[in-house]
Amino acid sequence: MTNAVRDVEVAVIGGGPAGLMAAEAAVIAGARVTVFDGMASVGRKFLLAGKGGLNLTHSEPSVQFPTRYGTRATLLKPALDAFGPEAIRDWALALGVATVIGSSGRVFPSDYKAATLLRRWLHRLRAQGVRFVMRRRWRGWSDAGDWLFESPAGPELVSAQAVVLALGGASWPRLGADGAWVETLSARGVAVAPLKPSNCGFEVAWSAHLRERFAGAPVKPVAARTVDRPAIRGELMVTAYGVEGGVIYALSAVLREQIALVGRAQLELDLTPDLDLATLTRVLGEPRGARSMATHLKRKARIDGVKSALLHEVLSRTTFDDPAALARSIKALPVRLTAARPLAEAISTAGGIQFEALDERLMLRAIPGVFAAGEMLDWEAPTGGYLLTACLATGHISGAAAAAWAMRGREEKYPA
Ligand SMILES: Cc1cc2nc3c(=O)[nH]c(=O)nc-3n(C[C@H](O)[C@H](O)[C@H](O)COP(=O)(O)OP(=O)(O)OC[C@H]3O[C@@H](n4cnc5c(N)ncnc54)[C@H](O)[C@@H]3O)c2cc1C
Repeated sequence: MTNAVRDVEVAVIGGGPAGLMAAEAAVIAGARVTVFDGMASVGRKFLLAGKGGLNLTHSEPSVQFPTRYGTRATLLKPALDAFGPEAIRDWALALGVATVIGSSGRVFPSDYKAATLLRRWLHRLRAQGVRFVMRRRWRGWSDAGDWLFESPAGPELVSAQAVVLALGGASWPRLGADGAWVETLSARGVAVAPLKPSNCGFEVAWSAHLRERFAGAPVKPVAARTVDRPAIRGELMVTAYGVEGGVIYALSAVLREQIALVGRAQLELDLTPDLDLATLTRVLGEPRGARSMATHLKRKARIDGVKSALLHEVLSRTTFDDPAALARSIKALPVRLTAARPLAEAISTAGGIQFEALDERLMLRAIPGVFAAGEMLDWEAPTGGYLLTACLATGHISGAAAAAWAMRGREEKYPA
């Protein structure tokens, strides 16, 4: 092991959106900032999010916005108040990237890509003096208390006045965030809730017929609900393993918890969200003459393809002979989910550093001078721009606070 210790003022470990925003807030506050990342380049998940259009934030009213974080709404509100949806749009604009609001209220960069935004952001950060040190995977601390990194040339040590950890969750680990920090921080007395998949797909024991014929087929329009949750309208996809897609992701937290509790979750699908039950019952009850049931369903309720296959998968033959029962089933088709798909495949991660382990500046109570931000904190939210918003907002708060902490001792440590 090399004995040389790299001395930095503020170290940001993890160069995803949370870490980059922490670096920006810290450098603006006047600190000297170095970003370390285990990968060869920063922002890999951010770039992947760009493939889906990069939903940066959401334009819904500010009273509604924090509620998307469920029980963590109050805890995240100060960060969202300081750097929320409006600030994010202004920030993008200052980088020369205007944003647009989609029909659902979601906010995107006008080119629906992450690459331009990231390129300009990194350029500005470098111009502001932020240094980037890549291929440095943080592994813990040396006996002397220095930060220990794995580098291509072997172990490296870093000493820092303040550190922001922005290591992400554990979905898509090949992009850099692998959750290895859970063990390291837990061993230092930081309370971490187990990492779980969020915005993920679920397994269903489909028949071979449905799997082979319809895997990859979108089901739309559809409305889905579970237990006492209001129905969510949108789209889902039948996959070889089960279901995924927008409405499934939106219900993923409650579905995942139901499965954890009782080993399964029941999803109810409304295959005709534009037809109310009474109308559907009436039209299905109209004489079909010599027409087949498939043609009747297609003509009267626009049910064919994968929707028709789902009905045959779940319902008994006799249900098709009773228009009222058939209509009820079409409006609430039960689908049994048996497991969440693995965390590595999920869009995001639930669980992480518990808020009780942090003070209001997002500093770890167990390790003064060390702050945390982004998806590694214990919150979750549906897709819709809420994930990036919370990452950027917590990055902003923690970066500014880390700078303030680091600069307290600047005169002694870094004479002018
Ligand atoms: C397919 C997909 C699409 C998405 N689309 C959207 C979207 O449109 N809108 C939205 O709001 N959200 C979206 N998300 C979620 C969003 O990308 C994440 O919430 C966000 O990137 C998390 O930011 P972060 O900075 O906390 O962590 P990450 O972006 O995961 O960054 C963590 C960084 O830390 C580094 N790192 C980890 N461990 C170490 C270590 N030990 N040492 C050194 N470096 C380390 C990693 O290399 C990585 O660069 C999407 C996610 C996926 C997978």
